[in-house]
Amino acid sequence: MKLQHLLINITLTVFLLLSAHFNAQKKFTVVLDAGHGGKDIGATRKYSDLGTVMEKDVTLAIILKLGKLLEKNKDFKVIYTRKIDEFPSLLDRTNLANRNHADLFISVHVNSSKTSSTSAQGTETFVQGPAQNKTNLEIAKAENDVIFLDAKDKEVFASYDPDSPESLIALKIQQSKYLEASLYIGNYVEDNLVKNGKRPSRGVKQQNLHVLRMNAMPSILIETGFVNNYEDASYITSEDGQNEIAGSIYDAIVTYKKKMERNQKKEEEKPKELPLKNDFRVLLMSTPNKYIENDPALKGLKYILTIKENGLYKYYYSVTNFASIKDANLKTAKDAGFRNATAISFIPNQKMNTGYYRIEVYTGKEKLPKSSPILKTLENVEREKADGTFYYTYGNVSSLEAAIKLQKELEDKGINNTVIEKVYK
Ligand SMILES: [Zn+2]
Repeated sequence: MKLQHLLINITLTVFLLLSAHFNAQKKFTVVLDAGHGGKDIGATRKYSDLGTVMEKDVTLAIILKLGKLLEKNKDFKVIYTRKIDEFPSLLDRTNLANRNHADLFISVHVNSSKTSSTSAQGTETFVQGPAQNKTNLEIAKAENDVIFLDAKDKEVFASYDPDSPESLIALKIQQSKYLEASLYIGNYVEDNLVKNGKRPSRGVKQQNLHVLRMNAMPSILIETGFVNNYEDASYITSEDGQNEIAGSIYDAIVTYKKKMERNQKKEEEKPKELPLKNDFRVLLMSTPNKYIENDPALKGLKYILTIKENGLYKYYYSVTNFASIKDANLKTAKDAGFRNATAISFIPNQKMNTGYYRIEVYTGKEKLPKSSPILKTLENVEREKADGTFYYTYGNVSSLEAAIKLQKELEDKGINNTVIEKVYK
């Protein structure tokens, strides 16, 4: 991505990612996931009066009851990962939800403990823990195709580069919003189960769970009760119990939808962040050493602009004219290991009065042969020698922007790994 296009992309990316899930014209899509199924029976326990209780049957019964309630409400679109006794893989379930741009993913399960019977009792709801955020981020990047399938999105994201710093920031914001939203729905569910069913609640917990790991939307997994606790088992296999659980989850989804719409409205009413007058780049280091792209010294950071000044190479990371992005870029640089990184202000299109910019196209101990691509492609390349090193430079422009443009033109001609040099007279 061209540097000058980054600014536009920042705002577009952040805006689109955050608004993608609350489109006014779209029905609120809930994916209902009955845990296990088919050959995978899940947790099980045999009782003389209840018979063999199997998790896969209980989860399906509750999900179908919940689905009926949601289908009666015209605000919702319901998608089932299964409606019969079959086993969709976890990936199938995730893909289904991601491809449908679901707003919410609800997975229903039944708990069990290692002992044959237990005094442990009640419900608990899991959300994806923060430790998973990194994996999730990687997946969000990799699954970009899946997440933005709309033709319109594709158009906008034609130049979307998941590795650019701005896209990463947008995705990080997105991830933390999912976690926050998942905690809301999780708490509503647990509160309702206690209120409606007088069930003991074991609370909302953050954990690394496979089924939620790759979901690109707020997601929860509800453990509705213990299969090896007689009281729980009786409750979750009874019509009344299942109806109560389904009703509690339904109420929670309705409350959650309202809450999200209120949040969305607040977000829209917030004053938009205005761009700053200056551009900001993060100075990573200043050194006599010349590093090219992907050098380990750059610690994996991309979008580096190198400016040589008074014999020192200054490495700058990213560019933005938004304060929030500047702070995020600085944090990214520090997280990468540049503890002394600082944001440096640049006046856009500032002309140098007492100097100029040129491009350092080559440095080396050996002179370039006349047949070298650089000398064959470019005219008026200048050569200097200092401390046994030859420096080849090209061009004379008055602003940094013009130098970046010139550098890009050289790249298009196949001349790479050049450095912009600021020359003072
Ligand atoms: Zn399960």
